[in-house]
Order: sequence, then structure tokens, then C-alpha cells
Amino acid sequence: MATAFPVPAAPAVPVVSLRALAPYAVFAGVILLALLYLVGMDQGATSMFSGTMIHEFVHDGRHLLGFPCH
Ligand SMILES: [Zn+2]
Repeated sequence: MATAFPVPAAPAVPVVSLRALAPYAVFAGVILLALLYLVGMDQGATSMFSGTMIHEFVHDGRHLLGFPCH
């Protein structure tokens, strides 16, 4: 059965090797671990920054993610 409209060809999906993807994965992992530290563990004895500004800034996120807080 012929269609009334021409069917476009499927776009070519580029193949990315794991070796080419590795630096980006490592970079994203480092950034995500830094964010996880700032949101979840920057408190008390493990705090890298003095004061409670970061803790108060990410306080709702801590509770949302289930980190113990207070
Ligand atoms: Zn809290």
C-alpha cells in the first residue's frame, strides 16, 4: 500500500565508544559528587566551609533527598 506522504529516512545515530565517552563521564561524576557532598554532607565535622550558609541554602534539598539533618 502506498502512502500519501513520503516517509523520511531514519536519522543516522552516531556511535560513541566508551573510550571517547570516559572523560565526560568522569567529569560529570566529579561534579555530581561535589554537589552530593555540598547538599548532603557539608555539615558539622565534615564541613569544608565555616558557617551554616551552605547548609541553610540546601536545607530543603537535604530533607527531600532523605539525608539526616536535625
Ligand atoms: Zn533539616
